[in-house]
Amino acid sequence: MSIVSPAPRFQSAFRRLLLALLLPLAGCAASDEGASSTAIAFEGARVIVGDGTVIANATIVVDGGRITSVGAAGDVDVPEGAARMDLSGKTIIPALINTHMHLGTTRADLVGQLEHLAYYGVGAAVSLGSDAGDETLALRDGAISGAARFLSSGPGITRPEPGRSEVPHWVNTEDEARAAVQELASLQVDIVKIWVDDRGGQYEKLTPALFGAIIDEAHEHDLQVTAHIFALSDAKGLLRAGVDAFAHSVRDRDVDDEFVALVRERPDFVLVPNLPNPGVAADLSWLSGTVPADQLSAMQARATGNPQAQESFGIQARNLARLSEAGVRIGFGTDGGAPWAVHQELEDMVSAGMTPSDAIVAATSTSAELLHLSDVGTLASGQSADFVVLDANPLNDITNTRRIASVYLRGSEVDREAISARLLAAGG
Ligand SMILES: [Zn+2]
Repeated sequence: MSIVSPAPRFQSAFRRLLLALLLPLAGCAASDEGASSTAIAFEGARVIVGDGTVIANATIVVDGGRITSVGAAGDVDVPEGAARMDLSGKTIIPALINTHMHLGTTRADLVGQLEHLAYYGVGAAVSLGSDAGDETLALRDGAISGAARFLSSGPGITRPEPGRSEVPHWVNTEDEARAAVQELASLQVDIVKIWVDDRGGQYEKLTPALFGAIIDEAHEHDLQVTAHIFALSDAKGLLRAGVDAFAHSVRDRDVDDEFVALVRERPDFVLVPNLPNPGVAADLSWLSGTVPADQLSAMQARATGNPQAQESFGIQARNLARLSEAGVRIGFGTDGGAPWAVHQELEDMVSAGMTPSDAIVAATSTSAELLHLSDVGTLASGQSADFVVLDANPLNDITNTRRIASVYLRGSEVDREAISARLLAAGG
């Protein structure tokens, strides 16, 4: 696996196309600046910008890994000598951003997962609280060719939870809580993750005094705090203490007026709904590009209706519908490590009542804003050229985000065929 410099590297079919276009001109390139353009124009697609707007027949010009221009066909000047790609009939969305995952803790595992994420159109993913060491944290510094960008909160902070992961900081006093945040600040984590959950009465959970100290210390270090929560009462306490985001929504009951009022007082707060299994039968055949047949049939056999799961899903779906309706900023995350889970989550957010457009905004620009990533999340001039070309329009049917024709990260096409071949061979 190669770490590349920020310079763009054109790959696979795309690179071949470019070479085919440029080689006949090589003899005169030195004397003809236009013919040596490295720009590519993607023409004719519907572009879903990521901020809620749509351009029906768009041109996107990409050069040096960045979008240099985007707009309606006819409004965009395509540089002379640029390669042109006809995407009529396709729809382009920004690469998706998953703010809540738990990813591999060795370099090899993590790089494989980041490629797998890229295959499914994810441009950036955050490992939220389960990373112990420097081996994977160091991977945040360089762009890995053909793979999603990696962010991490390092180890998170919770009370002692014997029997569960020992990677997070276990704190019992305000001094320990502040010291844990200081260590995370020295690791330059991307966000601080805390757990406020007694796991069904098994453990003590972070008290308001402890999470108050964590949030205060994090803000002193210009770090945001996102909380794993379960109960409505804890959610209210965290909002009063100034928490920046929830990595799950309220799960024990329907939210009440007091909660809605507390969230509305906090215009920058972001709720990541992270919906649970909807408990309905599903056709998983769309995963056949990366999941070996025997594993896929085992997964398919488990994908059946489950009334208990439907009940838990119902609470969280109602809460999402109410909070989204109230104007709360909604971000996007799936938990776990499944690279394809983003597409199920989008479908679940829409079945909870969000529009496909709002679900895509959550998974792109709002999640980029939550993570303070200023160069991704929308398709606009100056942004990193991270986008997904779809065969059908997800505004008509959100499951069309699964119909991926190609993925581009930092201006280069992701070699989905090679990733598919590797994953299917490894599992077979
Ligand atoms: Zn999690």
